[in-house]
Amino acid sequence: MVHSSSRIHRHYAAVVPGFLSDLTGSFSTSSAQNPTVAIMEAAYADAGLDVRYINCEVPAENLSDAVRGAIGMGWLGFNCSIPHKQSILEYLDDVAPSAAIIGAVNTVIIKDGRLTGENTDGQGFVESLRTVSDPAGKQIVIFGAGGAARAIAVESALAGATSITIVNRTVQRGEELAAVVDSQTPASARFLPWTSNFNIPEGTDIAINATSLGFHPNADETLDVDTASFAAGMVVADVVANPPMTRWLQAAEAAGCTPLTGLGMLVNQALVNARLWTGQKLNANVMHHALEQALGI
Ligand code: NDP
Repeated sequence: MVHSSSRIHRHYAAVVPGFLSDLTGSFSTSSAQNPTVAIMEAAYADAGLDVRYINCEVPAENLSDAVRGAIGMGWLGFNCSIPHKQSILEYLDDVAPSAAIIGAVNTVIIKDGRLTGENTDGQGFVESLRTVSDPAGKQIVIFGAGGAARAIAVESALAGATSITIVNRTVQRGEELAAVVDSQTPASARFLPWTSNFNIPEGTDIAINATSLGFHPNADETLDVDTASFAAGMVVADVVANPPMTRWLQAAEAAGCTPLTGLGMLVNQALVNARLWTGQKLNANVMHHALEQALGI
């Protein structure tokens, strides 16, 4: 637990034009390819907020110093990505219930010297999913059992999905995630081994790629799934945001499914983060535009 005696207390209503911005940002390594800074700064500026988002290269052994620095400088909060999503837990005073189930935090809010951890990866995904389908009452298949898959599985279950099926290359990781969702959320969950030319089970409403397959520069890679098992009307989503229309989504669209790119997850997660830090609802369209420009798509 880290405390600060020099916390700067300010409120948005009290902000007057000046030379001191409120600070937010990200701690990760490697950080150079993370486009979140472009989204956040564009949306803060659009909303007329004097807030900055600083993308920081923070290796594992420097996390403690970075957290102390953020507190000492009065940051509103920060994102943490690879490799800090679990190691950040020891610095937190409170952890939001869904982040506790997921076992990882990607957003920290600093208020009155107290650090609260949230996981907005899954919340961002569910917000994005709701633009095409409400997860409530749905049967969902998730490929992958890493950080993104854990967050999506838990938040979809908490949003009312009836059943979650985890399909993962590494059996133990997949079984563990299915057990967590089954025992700690209202949804029922099971693990299925990822057999060759995998058949998406009949009755699936939503199929999600939560692996890193297809991510730039490996856009030629795709999931070992029989595309004949895509049923027309199914929602097929991807966490990969670059390129947005992955081979997985192209195949789904060709089969009459509704494709959902990873761009919406990224933007909605940023919207949730900004709301947690500033209390303001930023403009999603501005974020989408900034993201597309940043990624050159
Ligand atoms: P992790 O390393 O935690 O997990 C990776 C997952 O991908 C594991 O389930 C792994 O399986 C699986 N995987 C990797 N390679 C293969 C392969 N060749 N065949 C089958 N499965 C494979 O990564 P994250 O969960 O943090 O990230 C996953 C993806 O999600 C990344 O591309 C990331 O960019 C994206 N992401 C997107 C976000 C957005 O806002 N759009 C937010 C967060 C992440 P195994 O367990 O067997 O190793």
